[in-house]
Order: sequence, then C-alpha cells, then structure tokens
Amino acid sequence: MEIYVPDIYQENIYKINYDMLLSRGIKCLIFDLDNTLVTIKENTPTEENKKLFKELKEKGFKLYLVSNSIKTRVKPFHEELKVDYIYSAQKPKTEKIIELINNSKFDLDEIAMIGDSMVDDIVCGNTIGITTILLDQLSKSEFPFARIKRSREKRIQKKLRDNDLFTKGRHYE
Ligand SMILES: [Mg+2]
Repeated sequence: MEIYVPDIYQENIYKINYDMLLSRGIKCLIFDLDNTLVTIKENTPTEENKKLFKELKEKGFKLYLVSNSIKTRVKPFHEELKVDYIYSAQKPKTEKIIELINNSKFDLDEIAMIGDSMVDDIVCGNTIGITTILLDQLSKSEFPFARIKRSREKRIQKKLRDNDLFTKGRHYE
C-alpha cells in the first residue's frame, strides 16, 4: 500500500513550499496537467500558471510537463509555459519518464513528481523512486479515462485511511 502514499500532500500547486523543496535538494519538477495545473475545461495555461512557472524558473528549477492526455491537449501548455513535455505518458507506467530522467542531468533524489492522481502520478513517482507530491484535484470534472481510475482511487484511499497510512484532506509536508 505504501506505493500509493505521497511524500508530500498539499492543496494545490500554489501551496507547495518550493523553497523547502530546494533546501531538500530538489532541482527538477515534473508536473501533471489535468486537474493539477488546470481543470479539463481550460485549454491554455492561466495567468497564475504562467506566474508560478516564471517564478519557479527564476528559483532555478528545471520544469517538465508530463501528461497522459494527447498531444493536442498538452502542446498549448508546452508552448505558453515554455517547458519540455511528454504527452500520452501512460502514467503509472514509468518507461517514458525514466527515459526523460536518463536524458536529463538529474539524479533521482533531485526530482519531484507533482500531480492530483494517486494511482497515476504518485504510483509512477514512487515506483521510479523520486519525491512524490499529491495535490487535491482542481475539479471533480474528469476526462472519461481518468474517471474510471478515480473510483479505484477512492477505494484505495479508504483502505489507506483505515490502515492509518494516509488521510485525504489532511495536508502535510
Ligand atoms: Mg491529473
């Protein structure tokens, strides 16, 4: 069950203590897109997204966007936020992210995966062995492929809560 438990759990991307991540040696952030950066109704980055990404780059972070969504969905974010990206990433499968990491100059302990899906983002990051940061989903609206996974995730969250491993809604760093 530990594979589902994030290292850090926060409300949203704006609540993460990025300076604390820097002090822990994290230099590279891999962001999920849907329900992490924006809701599925938004097709381009918000002003807040742009401001945050600009600030994070100024702090020295290398940023990536890694999404299970298709190219047409992810590309506008890659272009406007000016970050490298992977579309159709197939999280929780690790192949494409490991390839990205191998092509980067970062060690596993310098990388954090940030996303709203326990069964995709957190399992993927924990399998690889990087820092994992779970966020509350921005909206209850999901693409159909994500909706199926979400019901599985709810059952897992109940098990985690019953075993005192993780409680949704109780944020921590
Ligand atoms: Mg997501």
